[in-house]
Amino acid sequence: MGVRWVTEEEAPLKRSSGIAISLGLFFLLGMTIAAEDFASGYYLKQGLSRAQATLRLTIQGLEGRLQRFETLPILLADDEIIRSLSSDLANPDLRARANQWLKQRSTTVQASDIYVMTLGGVTVAASNFDKQDSFVGQSFDYRPYFKDAANGGKGRFYALGTTSGVRGYYFATPVRSNAGTIIAVIALKIGLDEIEAEWRAQEYRILVNDPEGIIFLSTDPVWLYRGLLSLTPDRIAKTSTSRRYADADVSELPHISSVEHNIPLIRLAGDDGAAREYLVAKQLMPTANWTVQVLLDTSYLRGQARLATTALLLFMGIAVSIWLMLRQRRLQFAERIVLQEQTKLDLERRVIERTTDLERVNHQIETEIAERRLTELELRRTQNDLVQAGKLAALGQMSAALSHEINQPLAAARNYADSAAILIYRGEGAKALENINHIVSLIDRMATIAKHLRNVARKPDAPLLAIDLASAVAEAVSSAQARLHAVGAIVSVDLPMCLPMVEAGPVRLQQVLTNILSNAADAVESVQDKRIAIAAANADDRIALTVRDHGPGVPPAIAARIFDPFFTTKRVGSGLGLGLSISYNIMKDFGGDLRVSNDPDGGAVFTMVFALADAKKMAAE
Ligand code: ADP
Repeated sequence: MGVRWVTEEEAPLKRSSGIAISLGLFFLLGMTIAAEDFASGYYLKQGLSRAQATLRLTIQGLEGRLQRFETLPILLADDEIIRSLSSDLANPDLRARANQWLKQRSTTVQASDIYVMTLGGVTVAASNFDKQDSFVGQSFDYRPYFKDAANGGKGRFYALGTTSGVRGYYFATPVRSNAGTIIAVIALKIGLDEIEAEWRAQEYRILVNDPEGIIFLSTDPVWLYRGLLSLTPDRIAKTSTSRRYADADVSELPHISSVEHNIPLIRLAGDDGAAREYLVAKQLMPTANWTVQVLLDTSYLRGQARLATTALLLFMGIAVSIWLMLRQRRLQFAERIVLQEQTKLDLERRVIERTTDLERVNHQIETEIAERRLTELELRRTQNDLVQAGKLAALGQMSAALSHEINQPLAAARNYADSAAILIYRGEGAKALENINHIVSLIDRMATIAKHLRNVARKPDAPLLAIDLASAVAEAVSSAQARLHAVGAIVSVDLPMCLPMVEAGPVRLQQVLTNILSNAADAVESVQDKRIAIAAANADDRIALTVRDHGPGVPPAIAARIFDPFFTTKRVGSGLGLGLSISYNIMKDFGGDLRVSNDPDGGAVFTMVFALADAKKMAAE
């Protein structure tokens, strides 16, 4: 795996994202602590209100139980047997009766013990007289309840039995003589173990401590006779004088008290030795001067708080994930938009580039076209020059032929003239006239040659015009009518409607058309099929006018030469061999062409190609 270096641009980016992550983690930590604190507070308060409800019920139960026995000693003290015994405390009969009676009563009222004491505190009769740890003969003068009752008050006391070692609550009342003097004390002890047994069935820990902070009722036996307050000598003295806890080893209970969300908490080890945290609901029970405390294990509440916090964090996590996902989507969407925008700009730039390229190419093409036009013009001019030069070259050629053509008739004319002179001298006028006619015809022939040559040699300067071919053809047919009629030619003209105008010189065009028509007439003269067809077609911005006859056609051997000046296959005196040569040059002057071919069905086809007249010339027309 290659090492990837962080670039200079990436470094601050990474740093800022690192800071963001750290801040996010701190925030998360803060949120977790705050959420847990809030949830703990909520669940602890809930627990506290439940514990307080239990506390109320517990106190009601305790008070109810104590109240049940509250008046019982007074009733017992009023009984005849007790009063009799109290009047005669040393009487063994009365003692025995009282013992039996007390035992019976004790069972009936479900008291732990009932016993009668002298004003010296010595027990003279007791419900447990027949038990091993009988109170009879025992002195309880140190017990506060005895003292209170002996002094005429109501004795109330809770303590661990010094004889029985059983915890109990003591009620004592004085036994008065008929005269109203206090003669003895009767006490009733109720057990408290049952209450604890009832409490243990609940989920709460319950303990009851005295004003000195010593626990004497508890769901957990290990807490019994342990002090929640520090055992000062004063507190120890108070307890030991009354021997409240008999020989029990009273010591401080190790615990840690704290307050959370105004809820008192305590941490202490229970029967199983494991330290737990409990929330505390406590209340003073004034009747007995006890503090009842209901403890609720906070582990379940804290578990619930943690669960709620986890749920909240989970929810927050999901919310943050959704938010991040949406943010990511939004960023992606924005990126896509930017990308699209970039692509669009790129496309536009490329279009502009292409357009510029195209414009440049177009410009190049236009330049090339202009150059080509110029070249074409140059070419045409050169062609024209060449044609003209060709004409001049032909003229040279022609001069040779011409001297021959003219010398012959001249020599002939000379002969005819000489003969005519002799004939006139002899008086043979008629024959002389014949000779003169011959001379005239020879002169005519030479005049014709001269006329044609004039046309060939002269560079045409007559402007070209827009010509309607239909009218031109009609005019030419009419001009050649005499000749056509003489050979019996059948002429058909088939020109398309709306044939565009062509570029030509009207007089010279007539010369070409008449020449070709008269050649066609010559061709059909000696054949059966006398048809001559004139047609036109429009192709590639050019008009092709064809003249087709049904004569012998042009043999391939001479096809290349028929446009040469003075080429003729006709007998002497019939053709000069200049017609096609002149016509060819005229067509070239028009910017057109003249071609010859043979129809597959026989007969020659002369094709005159014309350029279309351009709009400007038509307007000039
Ligand atoms: P001329 O008609 O005086 O001979 P042209 O230059 O008109 O001179 O014709 C040259 C030759 O072309 C003709 O002698 C003839 O042999 C040939 N020619 C012209 N037109 C036709 C035609 N329609 N059919 C056959 N041959 C033709």
